[in-house]
Amino acid sequence: MHNFEYHRPTSVADAVQSLKGAEDGKILAGGMTLIPTLKQRLAAPSDLIDLGAIAELKGIKDEGGMITIGAATPHAMVAESEVVRRVIPALADLAEGIGDPQVRNRGTIGGSIANSDPAADYPAALVGLDATVQTDRRRIKADDFFKGLFETALEEDEIVTAVSFPKPEKACYAKFPNPASRYAMVGVMVARAGGAVRVAVTGAGPCVFRLPEMEQALSGNFSPDAIKGIEISADGLNSDIHGSAAYRAHLVSVMARRAVTDCA
Ligand SMILES: Cc1cc2nc3c(=O)[nH]c(=O)nc-3n(C[C@H](O)[C@H](O)[C@H](O)COP(=O)(O)OP(=O)(O)OC[C@H]3O[C@@H](n4cnc5c(N)ncnc54)[C@H](O)[C@@H]3O)c2cc1C
Repeated sequence: MHNFEYHRPTSVADAVQSLKGAEDGKILAGGMTLIPTLKQRLAAPSDLIDLGAIAELKGIKDEGGMITIGAATPHAMVAESEVVRRVIPALADLAEGIGDPQVRNRGTIGGSIANSDPAADYPAALVGLDATVQTDRRRIKADDFFKGLFETALEEDEIVTAVSFPKPEKACYAKFPNPASRYAMVGVMVARAGGAVRVAVTGAGPCVFRLPEMEQALSGNFSPDAIKGIEISADGLNSDIHGSAAYRAHLVSVMARRAVTDCA
Protein backbone atom coordinates (compact mmCIF):
# COMPACT_ATOMS: atom_id res chain seq x y z
CA MET A 1 0.00 0.00 0.00
CA HIS A 2 1.23 3.52 -0.80
CA ASN A 3 1.26 6.27 1.83
CA PHE A 4 -1.73 8.62 2.05
CA GLU A 5 -3.12 11.36 4.27
CA TYR A 6 -6.05 10.15 6.40
CA HIS A 7 -8.99 12.50 7.14
CA ARG A 8 -11.94 11.79 9.43
CA PRO A 9 -14.40 14.70 8.99
CA THR A 10 -17.56 14.95 11.10
CA SER A 11 -19.76 16.73 8.53
CA VAL A 12 -20.48 16.40 4.82
CA ALA A 13 -19.31 20.00 4.31
CA ASP A 14 -15.91 19.16 5.86
CA ALA A 15 -15.67 15.98 3.78
CA VAL A 16 -16.29 17.96 0.58
CA GLN A 17 -13.69 20.50 1.68
CA SER A 18 -11.08 17.77 2.30
CA LEU A 19 -11.84 16.13 -1.03
CA LYS A 20 -11.60 19.39 -2.96
CA GLY A 21 -8.32 20.27 -1.18
CA ALA A 22 -6.65 16.93 -1.94
CA GLU A 23 -4.45 16.34 -4.94
CA ASP A 24 -6.03 12.94 -5.66
CA GLY A 25 -8.48 12.27 -2.83
CA LYS A 26 -10.77 9.25 -2.41
CA ILE A 27 -13.81 8.74 -0.22
CA LEU A 28 -13.57 5.78 2.17
CA ALA A 29 -16.88 4.21 3.28
CA GLY A 30 -16.69 0.63 4.61
CA GLY A 31 -13.50 -0.05 2.64
CA MET A 32 -14.87 -3.36 1.33
CA THR A 33 -13.76 -2.57 -2.22
CA LEU A 34 -11.39 0.34 -1.72
CA ILE A 35 -8.99 -1.25 0.82
CA PRO A 36 -8.29 -4.38 -1.30
CA THR A 37 -7.78 -2.07 -4.28
CA LEU A 38 -5.18 -0.08 -2.32
CA LYS A 39 -3.51 -3.24 -1.04
CA GLN A 40 -3.14 -4.51 -4.59
CA ARG A 41 -1.74 -1.09 -5.57
CA LEU A 42 -4.44 -0.67 -8.20
CA ALA A 43 -5.07 2.82 -6.79
CA ALA A 44 -2.75 5.22 -5.00
CA PRO A 45 -4.81 8.18 -3.72
CA SER A 46 -2.99 11.05 -2.03
CA ASP A 47 -5.74 11.37 0.63
CA LEU A 48 -8.44 9.13 2.10
CA ILE A 49 -11.55 10.88 3.43
CA ASP A 50 -13.30 8.51 5.82
CA LEU A 51 -17.10 9.01 6.09
CA GLY A 52 -17.31 6.87 9.25
CA ALA A 53 -17.67 9.75 11.74
CA ILE A 54 -20.38 11.67 9.84
CA ALA A 55 -23.57 10.87 11.76
CA GLU A 56 -25.87 12.57 9.21
CA LEU A 57 -24.86 9.98 6.58
CA LYS A 58 -26.05 6.99 8.58
CA GLY A 59 -29.65 5.90 9.16
CA ILE A 60 -33.05 5.28 7.57
CA LYS A 61 -36.00 7.69 7.48
CA ASP A 62 -39.63 7.26 6.42
CA GLU A 63 -40.51 10.82 5.33
CA GLY A 64 -42.56 12.52 2.62
CA GLY A 65 -43.73 9.22 1.14
CA MET A 66 -40.15 8.04 0.64
CA ILE A 67 -37.73 5.74 2.42
CA THR A 68 -34.43 7.61 2.58
CA ILE A 69 -31.24 5.74 3.42
CA GLY A 70 -28.05 7.61 4.35
CA ALA A 71 -25.07 6.84 2.11
CA ALA A 72 -22.94 5.40 4.92
CA THR A 73 -25.67 3.04 6.13
CA PRO A 74 -24.36 -0.54 6.15
CA HIS A 75 -26.27 -3.29 4.37
CA ALA A 76 -26.98 -5.06 7.70
CA MET A 77 -28.88 -2.01 8.98
CA VAL A 78 -31.08 -2.00 5.84
CA ALA A 79 -31.66 -5.75 6.13
CA GLU A 80 -32.66 -5.44 9.80
CA SER A 81 -34.67 -2.21 9.51
CA GLU A 82 -38.26 -2.60 10.71
CA VAL A 83 -39.44 0.22 8.43
CA VAL A 84 -37.72 -1.11 5.29
CA ARG A 85 -38.97 -4.63 6.04
CA ARG A 86 -42.55 -3.30 6.37
CA VAL A 87 -42.63 -0.81 3.48
CA ILE A 88 -40.23 -2.29 0.88
CA PRO A 89 -39.53 -5.88 1.97
CA ALA A 90 -37.82 -6.56 -1.37
CA LEU A 91 -35.12 -4.02 -0.43
CA ALA A 92 -34.55 -5.60 2.99
CA ASP A 93 -34.33 -9.04 1.32
CA LEU A 94 -31.84 -7.70 -1.24
CA ALA A 95 -29.62 -6.22 1.50
CA GLU A 96 -29.85 -9.46 3.48
CA GLY A 97 -28.57 -11.40 0.45
CA ILE A 98 -25.39 -9.34 -0.01
CA GLY A 99 -22.08 -11.11 0.64
CA ASP A 100 -21.58 -12.41 4.18
CA PRO A 101 -22.08 -10.91 7.68
CA GLN A 102 -18.69 -9.12 7.59
CA VAL A 103 -19.45 -7.50 4.22
CA ARG A 104 -22.99 -6.57 5.33
CA ASN A 105 -21.67 -4.90 8.47
CA ARG A 106 -18.95 -2.87 6.72
CA GLY A 107 -20.27 -2.32 3.16
CA THR A 108 -22.54 0.68 2.56
CA ILE A 109 -25.24 1.63 0.08
CA GLY A 110 -23.28 4.73 -0.98
CA GLY A 111 -20.08 2.75 -1.55
CA SER A 112 -21.92 0.08 -3.48
CA ILE A 113 -23.59 2.47 -5.93
CA ALA A 114 -20.56 4.78 -6.30
CA ASN A 115 -18.52 1.72 -7.22
CA SER A 116 -21.14 0.51 -9.76
CA ASP A 117 -19.82 -3.05 -9.88
CA PRO A 118 -21.67 -4.88 -12.68
CA ALA A 119 -22.62 -7.68 -10.27
CA ALA A 120 -23.73 -5.51 -7.31
CA ASP A 121 -27.29 -5.86 -6.05
CA TYR A 122 -28.21 -2.27 -5.11
CA PRO A 123 -28.15 -0.90 -8.70
CA ALA A 124 -31.12 -3.19 -9.50
CA ALA A 125 -32.96 -1.87 -6.45
CA LEU A 126 -32.34 1.77 -7.32
CA VAL A 127 -33.37 1.44 -10.97
CA GLY A 128 -36.20 -1.04 -10.36
CA LEU A 129 -37.71 1.05 -7.58
CA ASP A 130 -37.16 4.36 -9.42
CA ALA A 131 -34.98 5.79 -6.65
CA THR A 132 -33.22 9.16 -6.52
CA VAL A 133 -29.58 9.58 -5.49
CA GLN A 134 -28.82 12.66 -3.39
CA THR A 135 -25.33 14.07 -3.42
CA ASP A 136 -23.70 17.04 -1.71
CA ARG A 137 -24.85 19.22 -4.64
CA ARG A 138 -27.77 17.66 -6.59
CA ARG A 139 -30.36 14.92 -7.02
CA ILE A 140 -29.86 12.30 -9.73
CA LYS A 141 -32.55 9.84 -10.89
CA ALA A 142 -31.30 6.24 -10.75
CA ASP A 143 -31.97 5.88 -14.50
CA ASP A 144 -29.34 8.60 -15.10
CA PHE A 145 -26.90 7.57 -12.37
CA PHE A 146 -25.41 4.27 -13.63
CA LYS A 147 -23.46 4.97 -16.82
CA GLY A 148 -21.44 1.80 -17.47
CA LEU A 149 -18.90 -0.64 -16.07
CA PHE A 150 -17.70 0.92 -12.77
CA GLU A 151 -18.95 4.26 -14.14
CA THR A 152 -21.54 6.63 -12.70
CA ALA A 153 -22.75 10.21 -13.21
CA LEU A 154 -20.77 11.34 -10.13
CA GLU A 155 -18.17 14.04 -10.60
CA GLU A 156 -14.64 13.46 -9.24
CA ASP A 157 -15.26 15.38 -6.01
CA GLU A 158 -18.97 14.57 -5.53
CA ILE A 159 -20.21 12.68 -2.48
CA VAL A 160 -23.36 10.54 -2.36
CA THR A 161 -25.26 11.56 0.77
CA ALA A 162 -28.45 9.45 0.57
CA VAL A 163 -30.76 7.40 -1.62
CA SER A 164 -34.56 7.95 -1.60
CA PHE A 165 -36.94 5.19 -2.59
CA PRO A 166 -40.63 5.79 -3.40
CA LYS A 167 -42.95 3.19 -1.88
CA PRO A 168 -44.00 0.57 -4.45
CA GLU A 169 -47.33 -1.29 -4.44
CA LYS A 170 -45.39 -4.50 -4.99
CA ALA A 171 -41.74 -5.31 -5.49
CA CYS A 172 -39.63 -8.46 -5.49
CA TYR A 173 -35.97 -9.20 -6.10
CA ALA A 174 -34.77 -12.56 -7.37
CA LYS A 175 -31.07 -13.28 -7.59
CA PHE A 176 -28.94 -16.18 -8.74
CA PRO A 177 -25.87 -15.62 -6.55
CA ASN A 178 -22.32 -16.55 -7.32
CA PRO A 179 -21.88 -19.39 -4.80
CA ALA A 180 -18.53 -18.03 -3.52
CA SER A 181 -19.03 -14.25 -3.19
CA ARG A 182 -22.86 -13.99 -3.32
CA TYR A 183 -22.48 -11.23 -5.95
CA ALA A 184 -25.28 -11.48 -8.53
CA MET A 185 -24.64 -13.74 -11.51
CA VAL A 186 -28.00 -12.22 -12.38
CA GLY A 187 -30.42 -10.31 -10.16
CA VAL A 188 -33.78 -8.93 -11.25
CA MET A 189 -35.89 -6.37 -9.39
CA VAL A 190 -39.53 -6.17 -10.50
CA ALA A 191 -41.64 -3.35 -9.06
CA ARG A 192 -45.15 -2.06 -9.67
CA ALA A 193 -46.19 1.48 -8.76
CA GLY A 194 -49.03 3.65 -10.05
CA GLY A 195 -50.01 1.13 -12.74
CA ALA A 196 -46.49 1.07 -14.25
CA VAL A 197 -44.01 -1.78 -13.89
CA ARG A 198 -40.21 -1.53 -13.87
CA VAL A 199 -37.86 -4.47 -14.45
CA ALA A 200 -34.17 -3.86 -13.65
CA VAL A 201 -31.39 -6.38 -14.22
CA THR A 202 -27.97 -6.51 -12.58
CA GLY A 203 -25.10 -8.98 -13.03
CA ALA A 204 -25.93 -9.74 -16.66
CA GLY A 205 -24.42 -6.74 -18.45
CA PRO A 206 -21.68 -4.12 -17.93
CA CYS A 207 -24.11 -2.22 -15.71
CA VAL A 208 -27.72 -2.35 -14.58
CA PHE A 209 -30.33 -2.11 -17.37
CA ARG A 210 -34.11 -2.18 -17.78
CA LEU A 211 -36.23 -4.54 -19.91
CA PRO A 212 -38.93 -2.38 -21.60
CA GLU A 213 -40.59 -5.34 -23.34
CA MET A 214 -41.15 -7.11 -20.03
CA GLU A 215 -42.26 -3.88 -18.36
CA GLN A 216 -44.92 -3.37 -21.01
CA ALA A 217 -46.15 -6.96 -20.85
CA LEU A 218 -46.35 -6.89 -17.05
CA SER A 219 -48.15 -3.53 -17.01
CA GLY A 220 -51.03 -5.23 -18.90
CA ASN A 221 -50.91 -8.55 -17.05
CA PHE A 222 -48.85 -8.84 -13.88
CA SER A 223 -48.19 -12.56 -14.03
CA PRO A 224 -45.21 -14.79 -14.91
CA ASP A 225 -47.10 -16.05 -17.99
CA ALA A 226 -47.08 -12.53 -19.46
CA ILE A 227 -43.27 -12.65 -19.88
CA LYS A 228 -42.79 -16.35 -20.54
CA GLY A 229 -42.31 -15.96 -24.30
CA ILE A 230 -39.97 -12.96 -24.17
CA GLU A 231 -36.53 -13.87 -25.52
CA ILE A 232 -33.51 -12.20 -23.93
CA SER A 233 -30.65 -11.62 -26.38
CA ALA A 234 -27.17 -12.62 -25.20
CA ASP A 235 -25.62 -9.82 -27.26
CA GLY A 236 -23.49 -7.56 -25.06
CA LEU A 237 -24.05 -9.62 -21.90
CA ASN A 238 -21.18 -10.62 -19.60
CA SER A 239 -19.28 -13.81 -20.30
CA ASP A 240 -16.67 -15.00 -17.79
CA ILE A 241 -15.45 -18.03 -15.83
CA HIS A 242 -18.72 -18.01 -13.87
CA GLY A 243 -21.05 -18.25 -16.86
CA SER A 244 -21.49 -17.49 -20.56
CA ALA A 245 -23.58 -14.66 -22.00
CA ALA A 246 -26.16 -17.22 -23.18
CA TYR A 247 -26.40 -18.68 -19.67
CA ARG A 248 -26.91 -15.22 -18.20
CA ALA A 249 -29.59 -14.41 -20.81
CA HIS A 250 -31.44 -17.55 -19.74
CA LEU A 251 -31.04 -16.61 -16.07
CA VAL A 252 -32.56 -13.16 -16.72
CA SER A 253 -35.80 -14.80 -17.94
CA VAL A 254 -35.88 -17.25 -15.04
CA MET A 255 -35.13 -14.62 -12.36
CA ALA A 256 -37.69 -12.18 -13.81
CA ARG A 257 -40.44 -14.84 -13.73
CA ARG A 258 -39.37 -15.84 -10.23
CA ALA A 259 -39.58 -12.22 -9.02
CA VAL A 260 -43.08 -11.79 -10.50
CA THR A 261 -44.21 -15.10 -8.98
CA ASP A 262 -42.87 -14.03 -5.57
CA CYS A 263 -44.77 -10.72 -5.85
CA ALA A 264 -48.01 -12.54 -6.58
C1 LIG B 1 -16.31 -10.78 -0.26
C2 LIG B 1 -17.27 -9.75 -0.78
C3 LIG B 1 -18.54 -10.14 -1.18
C4 LIG B 1 -19.44 -9.19 -1.68
N1 LIG B 1 -20.68 -9.62 -2.09
C5 LIG B 1 -21.53 -8.70 -2.58
C6 LIG B 1 -22.85 -9.09 -3.01
O1 LIG B 1 -23.26 -10.24 -2.91
N2 LIG B 1 -23.65 -8.14 -3.52
C7 LIG B 1 -23.27 -6.82 -3.62
O2 LIG B 1 -24.04 -5.98 -4.07
N3 LIG B 1 -22.05 -6.41 -3.19
C8 LIG B 1 -21.19 -7.32 -2.68
N4 LIG B 1 -19.99 -6.90 -2.22
C9 LIG B 1 -19.66 -5.44 -2.29
C10 LIG B 1 -19.99 -4.78 -0.93
O3 LIG B 1 -21.33 -5.00 -0.64
C11 LIG B 1 -19.76 -3.25 -0.86
O4 LIG B 1 -20.92 -2.51 -1.04
C12 LIG B 1 -18.80 -2.72 -1.87
O5 LIG B 1 -17.61 -3.48 -1.78
C13 LIG B 1 -18.46 -1.24 -1.57
O6 LIG B 1 -17.90 -1.20 -0.28
P1 LIG B 1 -17.98 0.00 0.71
O7 LIG B 1 -19.37 0.45 0.89
O8 LIG B 1 -17.22 -0.43 1.91
O9 LIG B 1 -17.25 1.20 -0.07
P2 LIG B 1 -15.67 1.50 -0.19
O10 LIG B 1 -14.95 0.23 -0.52
O11 LIG B 1 -15.21 2.27 0.97
O12 LIG B 1 -15.71 2.46 -1.47
C14 LIG B 1 -15.99 1.95 -2.76
C15 LIG B 1 -15.87 3.09 -3.79
O13 LIG B 1 -16.95 4.00 -3.64
C16 LIG B 1 -16.49 5.33 -3.31
N5 LIG B 1 -17.43 5.83 -2.32
C17 LIG B 1 -17.80 5.25 -1.15
N6 LIG B 1 -18.77 5.94 -0.54
C18 LIG B 1 -19.02 7.00 -1.33
C19 LIG B 1 -19.93 8.10 -1.24
N7 LIG B 1 -20.80 8.22 -0.23
N8 LIG B 1 -19.93 9.03 -2.23
C20 LIG B 1 -19.08 8.91 -3.29
N9 LIG B 1 -18.19 7.89 -3.43
C21 LIG B 1 -18.17 6.95 -2.46
C22 LIG B 1 -15.07 5.13 -2.80
O14 LIG B 1 -14.27 6.26 -3.02
C23 LIG B 1 -14.60 3.93 -3.63
O15 LIG B 1 -14.21 4.36 -4.92
C24 LIG B 1 -19.06 -7.82 -1.73
C25 LIG B 1 -17.79 -7.41 -1.30
C26 LIG B 1 -16.90 -8.36 -0.83
C27 LIG B 1 -15.54 -7.91 -0.36
